This record gives sequence, structure tokens and C-alpha cells, in this order.
Amino acid sequence: WKAKRRRRDLDQIHQDMLPGNATKLLHQEPDPDLPGNAQHYCLHCARYFIDLKSMKDHFRSKVHKKRLKQLSEEPYTQEEAERAAGMGSYIPPKKIEVHTQPLDEMDESS
Ligand SMILES: [Zn+2]
Repeated sequence: WKAKRRRRDLDQIHQDMLPGNATKLLHQEPDPDLPGNAQHYCLHCARYFIDLKSMKDHFRSKVHKKRLKQLSEEPYTQEEAERAAGMGSYIPPKKIEVHTQPLDEMDESS
């Protein structure tokens, strides 16, 4: 059950990583019910952080690096590949490269 659950999470995150979805998740409307008003979100771990520093610390952590590795080794399903193809950016269903999202440091000063 546990393994199945984990797999489903990774599938969900692969969908989150599709260009259209990733942009939305990384630029969310401020939400006071979420840590850091939902402004510091790790796409690959599906986690919110209270501030930029916490998120940067997380990016350097083993947990995050392990997740990037997991995501790169879990291939896209055929369904996801077809959906990506429909969006004009075809991603072949094989090993993929996963990098930590770029940080927009300008946001922090406002
Ligand atoms: Zn992460």
C-alpha cells in the first residue's frame, strides 16, 4: 500500500512538472492558509515553505536531492507523454532530467 501510494505521488508530480502546470504552481495567488502564503513552493516535493531561506535550505537537503533522483528515474506514463505532446512539448517516455526550479530572488525584497 505504501509503495503504491508513493508511486501515485510521483505520477502527480510528473504532471505538475508539465510546463503549463509548473508555471501556475510556482506563481500561486497568495494564500494565508498555506505556509509562506503559498509563495515558496518546491515543485518536486509538493511542499510549501515559510520563506525563501527555508526553501533554499530544503533544496540543499538530502530529501530534495533524493526526490529529484526518484523523479528522474520514474518514467512518464504514456498518458502523460501524450498530454505533453498535445501541449506542443513532446517528452519521450524514458529517463528524464530533473533540476531544481530556478529561484526568482527579486521576489524576496518586495
Ligand atoms: Zn524539494
